[in-house]
Amino acid sequence: MGDLLKTEPVGIDQSSCTTSDPADPGLTADRVTVPPRLLAWYDRHRRVLPWRSAPGETADPYRVWLSEIMLQQTTVVTVGPYFQDFTRRWPTVRDLASADLDDVLRAWAGLGYYARARNLHRCAQAVARDHSGRFPDDEAQLRQLPGVGPYTAAAIAAIAFDRPATAMDGNVERVVARLFDVRDPLPGIKPVLRDLAAGLVPDLRPGDYTQALFDLGATICTPRKPRCMICPVADLCRARAAGSAEAIPAKAQKQAKPIRRGTAFFLTDAAGSVLLRRREEKGLLGGMMEVPSTPWGPVADPVAAAAAQAPLSAPAWQALPGLVRHTFTHFELELTVLIGRVAAVPAPAGCRWVPADRLGDEALPTVMRKVVRHALGRADQGRVIGNDQ
Ligand code: SF4
Repeated sequence: MGDLLKTEPVGIDQSSCTTSDPADPGLTADRVTVPPRLLAWYDRHRRVLPWRSAPGETADPYRVWLSEIMLQQTTVVTVGPYFQDFTRRWPTVRDLASADLDDVLRAWAGLGYYARARNLHRCAQAVARDHSGRFPDDEAQLRQLPGVGPYTAAAIAAIAFDRPATAMDGNVERVVARLFDVRDPLPGIKPVLRDLAAGLVPDLRPGDYTQALFDLGATICTPRKPRCMICPVADLCRARAAGSAEAIPAKAQKQAKPIRRGTAFFLTDAAGSVLLRRREEKGLLGGMMEVPSTPWGPVADPVAAAAAQAPLSAPAWQALPGLVRHTFTHFELELTVLIGRVAAVPAPAGCRWVPADRLGDEALPTVMRKVVRHALGRADQGRVIGNDQ
């Protein structure tokens, strides 16, 4: 073992990143030292997660894939109930492939990033149609599937098929950056971190090793206040030795997000139903339902002028006080909400009337749920708008 511990560290390209003093005489993180510690720790402290197979059991690729798609940009706590619901409704990839897309979008509502739900459905159909209902077991083929990028392909290959793949998520980037005290900022340093991480992946139990890294990043090597005292790889960690752990990984300064503005039309009919519209299939929130709104642009239309764009004209639009705000990946949105009431009229093309007590069943994205809450909670506070504004 002593000789093994002297194995050369995984190479760090000193020309492309900044690390602490490489003359540090301690043990080094490498493929021999890191995996045994992490696996031993994982065997005792692994998280119990709804999609995770029990120790010794073979992972179900469908559940691994589903959880990985859901977990993109979303927390474990949020995903849990959605995962349970999906696997109850659609226990296999074939079941999901034959589901109605609207049902899938409805079940997904609230998870955000709705292109994922559409790709989820397309991917299930591709697996059912092109792969006889079985997920392919190597990264290259997995990456051909809709919505499966390099990270997801690597995670499925590792966890479901025990392949020595390198799945780089935020947790893994952080752990690796700290192990090697890589101080250059993300995102530019990602390729270096990937190479370092790839140099650590063991041939033995790569799936468990991958999950161990996820768990270490989620529970011990956290973004703030990493718990180095109880970390299984503390003696290998350069950032801990250098006292730089909390500052790593550095992040390039983000530009402020632009603000877009628009006006939403919360229209009810004589029966109290609410007019909803389906969004275009392509683009942001594609195919989801919405409270009809103006296009979202850098400048808000004056409210009264915006009312002219409503799908149905109401006798008197009322502007609700306050704004509905929502943060998207690339911009902030501010919506003014107008409320109006009309007699029983047919819904215009692309729209339908939905009873207020059935709104919860609709594939409304989070921003539109905010609009509905805003309108339902303040329907008596509207300010009449019109020519006297
Ligand atoms: Fe992270 Fe600290 Fe462990 Fe290093 S010693 S990997 S900084 S928790």
